[in-house]
Amino acid sequence: MTLPSGAESEDFSEGPTYDDVVRAHERIAGHAHRTPVLTSRLVDAELGARVFFKAENLQRMGAFKFRGAFNALSQFSREQRRAGVVAYSSGNHAQAVALSAQLLGIPATIVMPHDAPAAKVAATRGYGAEVVSYDRYREDREEIGQALADARGLTLIPPYDHPHVMAGQGTAAKELFEEVGELDALFVPLGGGGLLSGTLLAAGALSPKCAVYGVEPEAGNDGQQSVRRGEIVHIDTPRTIADGAQTQHLGRHTFPVILERVTEVLTASDDQLVECVRMFASRMKTVVEPTGCLGFAAARERAEELRGRRVGVILSGGNVDPARLGGFLAGAAGGS
Ligand SMILES: *Cc1c(COP(=O)(O)O)cnc(C)c1O
Repeated sequence: MTLPSGAESEDFSEGPTYDDVVRAHERIAGHAHRTPVLTSRLVDAELGARVFFKAENLQRMGAFKFRGAFNALSQFSREQRRAGVVAYSSGNHAQAVALSAQLLGIPATIVMPHDAPAAKVAATRGYGAEVVSYDRYREDREEIGQALADARGLTLIPPYDHPHVMAGQGTAAKELFEEVGELDALFVPLGGGGLLSGTLLAAGALSPKCAVYGVEPEAGNDGQQSVRRGEIVHIDTPRTIADGAQTQHLGRHTFPVILERVTEVLTASDDQLVECVRMFASRMKTVVEPTGCLGFAAARERAEELRGRRVGVILSGGNVDPARLGGFLAGAAGGS
């Protein structure tokens, strides 16, 4: 019998716990940055609240995804390390796996959409990974990734639906609570739910009364529908500038954690995201990619309810092509 040596053959029926987040944090220590928590008097004044931004746009490779990827790859067996890793991603997970693999001496193959931002493709190649491209509107990346895994004996590390990835992503919120203490509300960008599920595990242990909101692009609210219906809803690839959250469905590992623990799933429009990109650049002098703005875009809309509260916002990433960023800042792209 030839079972793939990959993580897919492992038994994860239990699902990750806060304990796994703690162990992930030990594994990534010294490899991932402990990113700063940013505050702004201007934002506090606008919302009438105390707002703490966890700046994962300043994480290694520019997004929180390094946490989950490094946690997953550092648990590979000797054979898995030798054969290599394969991942599919619209960008940040690709770079996260490529960089983690390079640091751990593991060969990496990355399946990326043909229209992925050029900077993300270049960065992935720059970390020494082989890039295989596909058409994101016509081909199934999961099938391509699985076929490569089977053909070459590679271990597939998915972008969100893996307990080691989820536990790793939870370390960002763990650091936030350790630094600022308990919060009343926390806003988290939501794609496939790796970041949100890990965050929920951390919040449950470190700030149990904190309301935790997942925030999706308005054009692709499958997570909101899934939580309302109590089952995973699949949608077509949404067209949105939030390219890190263009997912079609939550995962079988992420969904149960989200369903059980999330306060509510909210949405933000592309126009709202562009406004936030501008605000972060002009007022806070920091580059946040559109997907990374989802949390703050939703928090702003709820300013009324948040008055006088302690509010956390995860800025999930900062990878945006300079030309595209220029367009957002000049008001050329994304309306408003
Ligand atoms: C991947 C990604 C997300 C969504 O994370 P999930 O774990 O898929 O929910 C949000 N923001 C950025 C910048 C990302 O790269």
